[in-house]
Amino acid sequence: MAKAKKYVYSFGAGKADGRADMKELLGGKGANLAEMTNLGIPVPAGFSITTEVCTAYYENKRKYPKELKGQVDAAMVKMEKVMAKSFGDPANPLLVSCRSGARASMPGMMETVLNIGLTTKTIPGMIALTKNPRFVWDAYRRLMMMYSDVVMEKAAGLEPKEGQGIRVQLEHIMDQVKRQVGAKSDTDLGTDQLETICTQFRAKVKEVIGKEFPDDAQEQLWGAVGAVFQSWNGRRAISYRRIEGIPDEWGTAVNVQAMVFGNMGDDSATGVAFTRNPATGENAFFGEWLTNAQGEDVVAGIRTPNPLNMATKSEHTAHLKSLEEVMPATYKALAAIRNRLEKHYHDMQDIEFTIEKGILWMLQTRNGKRTGTAALRMAVEMIREKLITKDMAVTRVTPAQLDELLHRILDPKAEKTAKVLAKGLPAGPGGATGRVVFTAAQAVAFAEKGEPCILVRKETNPEDVEGMRAASGILTALGGMTSHAALVARGWGKCCIVGCGALKIDAGAKTLKAGDTTFTEGDFLSLNGSKGIVYAGQLATVDPDPENPTLVEFLKACDAVRVLGVRANADSPHDAAVARKFGAEGIGLLRTEHMFYGEGADVPLFKLRKMILSNTVEERRKACDELYPHVKDDIKGTLAAMDGLPVTIRLLDPPLHEFVPQGEAKQQELANALGITLQDVRKRAEDLHESNPMMGHRGVRLGVTYPEVSEMQIRAILESAAELRAEGKKACPEIMIPVTCSVNELKDQQALIVKVKAEVLKKYNLKKLDFLVGTMIEIPRAALLANQMAEVAEFFSFGTNDLTQMTFGFSRDDIGTFMPDYLGKKILAVDPFQSLDQEAVGELIKTGIQRGRSVREKLKVGICGEHGGDPASIHFCHKAGMNYVSCSAFRVPIARLAAAQVAVATAGKPAKKGKK
Ligand code: ADP
Ligand code: MG
Ligand code: MG
Repeated sequence: MAKAKKYVYSFGAGKADGRADMKELLGGKGANLAEMTNLGIPVPAGFSITTEVCTAYYENKRKYPKELKGQVDAAMVKMEKVMAKSFGDPANPLLVSCRSGARASMPGMMETVLNIGLTTKTIPGMIALTKNPRFVWDAYRRLMMMYSDVVMEKAAGLEPKEGQGIRVQLEHIMDQVKRQVGAKSDTDLGTDQLETICTQFRAKVKEVIGKEFPDDAQEQLWGAVGAVFQSWNGRRAISYRRIEGIPDEWGTAVNVQAMVFGNMGDDSATGVAFTRNPATGENAFFGEWLTNAQGEDVVAGIRTPNPLNMATKSEHTAHLKSLEEVMPATYKALAAIRNRLEKHYHDMQDIEFTIEKGILWMLQTRNGKRTGTAALRMAVEMIREKLITKDMAVTRVTPAQLDELLHRILDPKAEKTAKVLAKGLPAGPGGATGRVVFTAAQAVAFAEKGEPCILVRKETNPEDVEGMRAASGILTALGGMTSHAALVARGWGKCCIVGCGALKIDAGAKTLKAGDTTFTEGDFLSLNGSKGIVYAGQLATVDPDPENPTLVEFLKACDAVRVLGVRANADSPHDAAVARKFGAEGIGLLRTEHMFYGEGADVPLFKLRKMILSNTVEERRKACDELYPHVKDDIKGTLAAMDGLPVTIRLLDPPLHEFVPQGEAKQQELANALGITLQDVRKRAEDLHESNPMMGHRGVRLGVTYPEVSEMQIRAILESAAELRAEGKKACPEIMIPVTCSVNELKDQQALIVKVKAEVLKKYNLKKLDFLVGTMIEIPRAALLANQMAEVAEFFSFGTNDLTQMTFGFSRDDIGTFMPDYLGKKILAVDPFQSLDQEAVGELIKTGIQRGRSVREKLKVGICGEHGGDPASIHFCHKAGMNYVSCSAFRVPIARLAAAQVAVATAGKPAKKGKK
């Protein structure tokens, strides 16, 4: 008979069944508890029930596999041996926690119950054992609060009205007792008071839920296990999964672990720490702790937590004693574990610890969430410390985090003169300005209107996540750097300030008071999340500095790893200079028509119009001659700015009638210049009208009908290059012919290029001139006939905006009317204009590359559509064997990162540099 499947994995006393790489099966928490155990780090013994049980439970009408009970009992016996106590034993009781643990961390989304096993039978034993009745009653009231809420209410599917939940009602009882005896904090309550509270709790649970609080250890245990599995499909877990893109099928594991107690008195404590600062990335052990506390007291914001050490005290925490000062030996042990964990995991860890009567226990470790700023700094510093390789480092910053660094902050100048309203803890980076809202729902509503808002809460809880997501910034009055709000905001790279005690928030009345100023919904606030400063009003914001040295160093590491080249789309010498600042290695698309739009375009535009409305070749030639110096200056300037880097210059592309003047004054001016009547101008303009201009007389078709127009542009390009050469400078132009569908179009234009080249060589007395001739592949026919196109074209640039339009038959300018439905009904998973459609458009690209290179092995291939800056599309381009991607200058850093990441993901070892 086959052995029964293993559903339960034990850990304890230095040995564990599991390992860190078993997250799929054991969840992140369970796998890391096992790993720490194997490392010899002190971890209370326990066992993990696998995610397979969760999946089976949901597949099998919420029933467990039949082997589970036996395996749990056996694991419990093992754990009892290690801890030398017995679960449910009245004389020597073992208490356990029941903790959820999904593969990916879902902070605060799932449920945990502590102190399981305390019953009227075991309480006296516990008291005798610990000689600390206060602690036992405190543990029991905690158990009742957590268990009645998580197991008896939530998991049972009860949905009490807002404010009527059992937990709130129990908290109410406790507050009442506190008030009666004048206790400021939970820790001021005495034994008798806690016992009274427990008695009242028991009655309240019965009254509200209609059931007795379970008084049997096994019943409590299985109730809690079931609740963890249930919580996987709770509302907030589902909503978190949706935002984070975590599949529903993953399931959660359950960890049952021997309790250690941080609430046994002043020699006991509990805390949360990061091995480096998760907000700034600074290599300093950073955390928060509380004496005589348990579990989530630190993160719940009930008491203000103390700083971990002296070095990381802030202005706000300077008066509080650090662990380093209060328990120096324990702190040293903890710091040693910190070093150990970083060396072992090669990454910043987010850890939980508890000190029971001076003895340190580790309860959790995981790779810590961090801001983009911190991710960047850690990646760069860890390379320098030789803790990680460059390949590893480039995977440590997500494109979204990099994006965050390239995003705005409050204008420092505006900050200098702005009124500081309050100070809090800098929990999430950057700057945000927006209107005050007090509920998550309002934040969502404001965001839907396109109105930036700041979500202001006393503290946030998992129910707020959607509003936190929608808000531009988050501000809370309570909570520390490890509070829910801080954790979630950092994960998303969202501007966030927590623990801003000076604020008086009345969510009911929708008012926020700071000193004598009152804000109501809709008033403006500005946040500096990097410093924790709140300002009244709407401050100016500024975009970040691409020359930040850490960023430069990180992107250099990306460059060392990536294979794919990165260019920018740029249309002018100024754009070109910006693109180089961001690290572009060339220009992948320079649109010549750009010079006819916008500021300073009047003169060239007028000349272009003359050319367009010319009726004869002579007229047109004359107009072209007039236009020539403008076109050449622009091109020469850009080539010079790129200093020998390749510049792909596209010949005139848009339908000409786009440039025809509509107003009578302008039309008359043109008539005068051309020596014709207004009537004539109108007539000629009408002749240019097309019913479907996107597919009309544009691109190479213009060059075929008006060769003199192509000639003028070709001459501008080649003479620019020749002049730069004569000036001792470098220039590397690539002439790109747009909207082609036949090699004969290319041959037609090639003939002009050959002719002009000969003339230019002669004029400048040159023997040779370096440039390439290629085409933009944006019509499916061209992709399919790429082998023919490559007979003339020395390079291809996939114009994926048009290629997407033509492949789908969607006009990009008109998708607004139906795309939302297509996405809503899941007819399409993503907008193909945002992320490249790898299925069909991608197939055309792959086919095009393969056929093109079948006749021209060294064919240079790039992409110049908007997709060139989209990480998923960049991954595709790498895999398809392109030489480079080209995107807007501001996306260049993200493209450099994405290109490095795909190189690491596909090679497994550093790829060789071979880009051009
Ligand atoms: P989360 O996933 O929300 O962090 P955890 O399972 O880590 O939930 O538990 C919540 C809190 O209870 C944490 O502070 C954790 O350290 C504490 N805790 C969990 N199990 C134990 C235990 N066996 N002994 C002491 N504290 C525990
Ligand atoms: Mg929790
Ligand atoms: Mg935890």
